[in-house]
Amino acid sequence: TSCGILVTGGAGYIGSHTCKALAQTGYAPVVYDDLSNGHEEAVLWGPLVRGDIRDTARLTKAMADHDVFGVIHFAGLIEVGQSVHRPDLYWDCNVNGVAAVLEAMRSAEVGRLIFSSTAACYGTPPNDSPLSEDDSLNPINPYGDSKLAGERMIAAYCAAFGLTAVALRYFNASGVDAEGQVGEAHYPETHLIPLAIEAALDATQPLTVFGDDFPTDDGFCIRDYVHVTDLAQAHVLALEVELGASGFEAMNLGRGRGSSVMEVIDAVAKACGRRPAYSLGPRRAGDPPMLVAEPSRAMARLGWTPAFTDLQAIVDSAVAWRRHRRFGAPASLKSVA
Ligand code: UDP
Repeated sequence: TSCGILVTGGAGYIGSHTCKALAQTGYAPVVYDDLSNGHEEAVLWGPLVRGDIRDTARLTKAMADHDVFGVIHFAGLIEVGQSVHRPDLYWDCNVNGVAAVLEAMRSAEVGRLIFSSTAACYGTPPNDSPLSEDDSLNPINPYGDSKLAGERMIAAYCAAFGLTAVALRYFNASGVDAEGQVGEAHYPETHLIPLAIEAALDATQPLTVFGDDFPTDDGFCIRDYVHVTDLAQAHVLALEVELGASGFEAMNLGRGRGSSVMEVIDAVAKACGRRPAYSLGPRRAGDPPMLVAEPSRAMARLGWTPAFTDLQAIVDSAVAWRRHRRFGAPASLKSVA
């Protein structure tokens, strides 16, 4: 039987970690990536097909050539702040990308899709409770809108055309492969943990904390940081899960525990042996005070148990990678800012 899995965006951060988990489980990942943000050095567990995510014909051919039975669709734009300034890019790449993947799956008769979704689908939570999949979906930025539109397109295709799909709503992906084969490298970097590590290890690198007056215990923003290797494992499990009549299910992926920006800075200080210097800035547009997952559906439905339970271990893995190895900027990096 076929064990080919097309991994769009497989040269990126979560995509490359997922390729490793797939290979370790006996699947044959085939990476489909344009290397606009991904790294060729991160493609270690199967072939690379270079292509645009909106190119239905190329996607169809990649699925047919490699005898693919499932697709994991990571390729997309991921920055909340950028999406506010360039919504055109987000609607184009994230929505037309899903459309192309779905059409290619119909043509190549591929039955299972796993979709990279996000906690940004929920918008600002109504209260302090962890978010469950039944909470209302009200994105507050074009990034969240474009990902929710992708989920809805996928659900409609499942209902109408008999595909099956799981949308995995990530909270804050963080940490790095324990063996350091792949890691996290965004250009420019915007995520808190890598920026705080950079600031701790290199005093010339600035770190700005976005707001200290949130309605939380210490006044800093709270997020649910979940290790990328745990995320990767959930994708592998989702490939084989039995789905109900609708053929579509969304699941949160988080640890179910929140950490404030200052708790992250403390963990980085401990891992690096040096506190990162930071300045205090205004709140970032589109940042809710608290985003924490209720992950019990993924745990029950997928048999998923995150192995990384505490923030310190997650941060330690990111620091180890930063000290030993880094990916350079992608050669083809297109400036879209
Ligand atoms: N953050 C910050 N300074 C930065 C980047 C992020 O204070 O330079 C905060 C941000 O406001 C949020 C948390 O760190 O509360 C995580 O942000 P990140 O961009 O890492 O992930 P996101 O939650 O946007 O997916």
